[in-house]
Amino acid sequence: MKVLVADDSLVMRRLLESTLQGWGFDVVCSQDGEDALEILLGPEAPQLAILDWMMPGLPGPEICRKVRARRTSGYTYILLLTSRGRREDIVEGMGAGADDYVVKPFDKHELEVRLRAGRRIIDLQSELLRVQEALREQATHDALTGLWNRASALEALERESARAARENRPLGVVMIDIDHFKQVNDQHGHQAGDEILRAFGARLTGVMRPYDFLGRYGGEEFLAVVPGCDAAGLNSHAERMRAVVEGLPFRAGGVEFHITASFGLSAKPGEGAVDCEGLLRAADDALYLAKRQGRNRAVYLPPQGG
Ligand code: GH3
Ligand code: MG
Ligand code: MG
Repeated sequence: MKVLVADDSLVMRRLLESTLQGWGFDVVCSQDGEDALEILLGPEAPQLAILDWMMPGLPGPEICRKVRARRTSGYTYILLLTSRGRREDIVEGMGAGADDYVVKPFDKHELEVRLRAGRRIIDLQSELLRVQEALREQATHDALTGLWNRASALEALERESARAARENRPLGVVMIDIDHFKQVNDQHGHQAGDEILRAFGARLTGVMRPYDFLGRYGGEEFLAVVPGCDAAGLNSHAERMRAVVEGLPFRAGGVEFHITASFGLSAKPGEGAVDCEGLLRAADDALYLAKRQGRNRAVYLPPQGG
């Protein structure tokens, strides 16, 4: 684990550096408060810091205050190590945001156990962030395909249509539905169906641009939000998607499946605003038409007014 040692005394820096290295820490040293703060706020900052109180640049407690004022995730565990050992100093140092306080000259064993306590806090904090991130992923993604879920895809549509209105840019929406998918389940089981849904999502993702959104809208229905794409652009985009589905068979459980899908398209032109419900409704109606006209095709309808 990386640790910052900030102390203006060369002797103290050397002593701490060799001690901490002996305990397996990766030590970064600084002799100046401003410099120490920059390291703690910079990229790949150490999560553990041992700060002297009196230093040129910024005193230790001031560094604590500035680090605590930062509004980003990730916790910095700060231990003040100073010769100021009066009760008021300790109160002031902890009040500034330090997690712990050790008075010089320090006892090695005491410092070691206090750092161990700090490490535990940092580990807990990292675990908390990891769980939070996993929950966020779960809440926004579809578990089977790993694509955005319905709520997130609709959120993306709302966000992008507001942006498109603001910037007078076009916005395309595509509703996608796999053709005769029920037969796959009926003839080869739900497991095979699931495998195909996953592969289908991955194949579509392969032809999307990085700033497009693809979500699983429901069972075998998907929603693509395509910023910057007008009707003509959307038609060729959908054709690429259609072709990549039809082009190669899907494999599931050792069996090959020839799958096709139908596409309902609608796009907001560059000028003016359009509500996303109107876009969605038009894309849905277009999908229905694509099914009616024989499936494995893309149909475009202009957005419907409010
Ligand atoms: P169409 O061409 O008209 O769209 O026909 P279809 O059979 O695809 O449409 P329908 O809506 O009748 O059936 C959709 C099927 O998709 C029914 C359901 O079993 C299947 N399905 C929906 N969600 C899942 C899923 O998560 N896993 C699997 N394996 N199948 C699913
Ligand atoms: Mg279907
Ligand atoms: Mg369907």
